[in-house]
Amino acid sequence: MTMGWKFTGSIVVAVVAVFVYWKVFSGPSRIVEILDEEYDYIIVGAGSAGCVLANRLSEDSDSKVLLVEAGGEEKWNLLIDIPLLTPMTQLSDIDWQFKTVPQQHACKGMHNNQCRWPRGKVLGGSSCLNYMIYIRGSRHDFDQWAASGCEGWGYDDVLPYFMKSEDNTNAEYANSGFHGKGGPLTVSDSNVTELTSYFLESAKELNYPVIDVNGESQIGFMHSQATVNKGVRQSTAKAFLRPAMDRENLHISIKSHTKRVLIENKKAVGIEFIKDGTLRKVKARKEVILSAGSIGSPHILLLSGVGPKEHLRKFQIPVEADLPVGENLEDHIMTDIATFLIDKPLSITEDKVLSVSSFFDYLLYGKGLPSNCGLEGSAFFDTVREVPDAMSGMQLHLLASHPGNDPYKQYAANVNFQNEVFEAIHGGRAGMHGFSIFPILLHPKSRGTIRLKSTDPFEHPEIDPHYLEHPDDVKVMVEAMKLAIKVGNTTAFKKIGAQLSDRVLPSCSHHKPLSDDYLACYIHHITLTVYHPTSTCRMGAPADAMAVVDPQLRVKGIAGLRVADASIMPHVVSGNTNAPTIMIGEKAADLIRGKKMADKK
Ligand SMILES: Cc1cc2nc3c(=O)[nH]c(=O)nc-3n(C[C@H](O)[C@H](O)[C@H](O)COP(=O)(O)OP(=O)(O)OC[C@H]3O[C@@H](n4cnc5c(N)ncnc54)[C@H](O)[C@@H]3O)c2cc1C
Repeated sequence: MTMGWKFTGSIVVAVVAVFVYWKVFSGPSRIVEILDEEYDYIIVGAGSAGCVLANRLSEDSDSKVLLVEAGGEEKWNLLIDIPLLTPMTQLSDIDWQFKTVPQQHACKGMHNNQCRWPRGKVLGGSSCLNYMIYIRGSRHDFDQWAASGCEGWGYDDVLPYFMKSEDNTNAEYANSGFHGKGGPLTVSDSNVTELTSYFLESAKELNYPVIDVNGESQIGFMHSQATVNKGVRQSTAKAFLRPAMDRENLHISIKSHTKRVLIENKKAVGIEFIKDGTLRKVKARKEVILSAGSIGSPHILLLSGVGPKEHLRKFQIPVEADLPVGENLEDHIMTDIATFLIDKPLSITEDKVLSVSSFFDYLLYGKGLPSNCGLEGSAFFDTVREVPDAMSGMQLHLLASHPGNDPYKQYAANVNFQNEVFEAIHGGRAGMHGFSIFPILLHPKSRGTIRLKSTDPFEHPEIDPHYLEHPDDVKVMVEAMKLAIKVGNTTAFKKIGAQLSDRVLPSCSHHKPLSDDYLACYIHHITLTVYHPTSTCRMGAPADAMAVVDPQLRVKGIAGLRVADASIMPHVVSGNTNAPTIMIGEKAADLIRGKKMADKK
């Protein structure tokens, strides 16, 4: 009888939830099937940067804007909207499902030595798959960009653009002078377990400050802030694109795979794309802007004849501009060695998530376990401790769970683990309480490439990050792994019985556990992307031979063509890449419109 009532109650709640969801998220739409022949601006790729550009450029009602996206709509997808379900977006139909080529020095614990690279293929792009952590990078990143010849990209220049996008719901931060209020992108505190407080306590023990890492200085510890609004993911589709969908001068073409940019007499005049199996053309009166991401943008440029001439000739592609497109690939890597079990029930576990209280907390208040992706804290460390306010070299992420606490083995599938490797280091621990601290290498010296495999636009390009090829990357990773273990071993975490996992990675068992050699061996095997590929269409001074775009984001040697996404970063920033990519979208829009931010800090 009680079961019957429970069942009926759940059905009623589910129906109400679906109704509310539909009311809140179904708005007007500019998604069109029949396009104009010509637009002022064509933006390729509706990801973190592309949605910002579509919004800002269509603010000018005189400008006709077309946004072209290979994926479909992001609406009606609970995997996207509910933060805790984030890992399940990977390997689904909104993921491009890229893989690296077999790595010589890394990914050895993965099938065929290949790491998986998820990327969003949907309105919102990778902002629909990401873990939503809001981190901008260090002020030194941007000052170095400016010092290397990227005029207008120093910290004081870009801070107003970060603030313009933002609506920070933490009053203390919002009034600090470093954050924005009232912008389209909600940024909120994102912590649901007590584990964060132990993490912040460990900072004091290790003599690091607890700070806002997006404020004055970056070195220190912080609870997570995330692009989440009342428990729902704020993709750039939701924050920037949907609010612009009632503008008549904005058209959006989905499931439209861009093949190439049409270039005539060294000027971009439009694009060719494939929709429903048909090749179509559309013209640009003013500009084509590529925002297809660090893999998509170089791929399209190469297919358009913009790239290293030897490589293009190999595929009989006429050379329009000989530029280092697809070179200089940088990515952050991390690993899962700092996995701790605890004797208090503080982690995110399946039974807690599925409890009635968790369900109602989320449904009624947008709070509780489903409202958070599990990453509850971050910390930044300089590699040289003596230098005050130095640039961070290492980052840690606190996960309020651990890789083995996953009854569905989604994590194992997402990173392409060999089954026996996963079982050896994480197996048999579903439902156990614990946490992981992921150490991250922020400034890799190894450089990778994106290259064509063929001229078929649907064939994924060859992704070779050359992970850990430079020996210094291994050294810094070993230090970062030791730091992560040190944090978990503090007396703060000992209060909850934290015990470092005693599992040994079989392929490294010939080394003394936790020795430098063992840690180095571990990172060569369990190499995990932090999903931050950048710099494949790198920005630089006009005379910089390694630059693809100038500081106005114009492709060198081709008029009417810009790139605006994570691929233009001269180097990957010291931190997560979504917020800086949104900033790039904001600044690109002003560059294109010939506007300047009035208020500088
Ligand atoms: C799993 C995951 C977790 C992450 N976690 C975080 C995090 O917690 N915090 C953070 O700051 N960053 C995170 N990131 C990184 C961050 O999301 C990305 O750096 C950022 O989204 C990149 O934005 P972009 O505009 O360069 O590219 P994208 O957002 O990837 O957008 C590119 C768009 O172009 C489209 N496209 C590509 N090729 C074509 C084509 N030929 N024709 C038409 N359209 C095309 C794609 O479908 C996509 O929609 C994560 C990323 C991933 C994948």
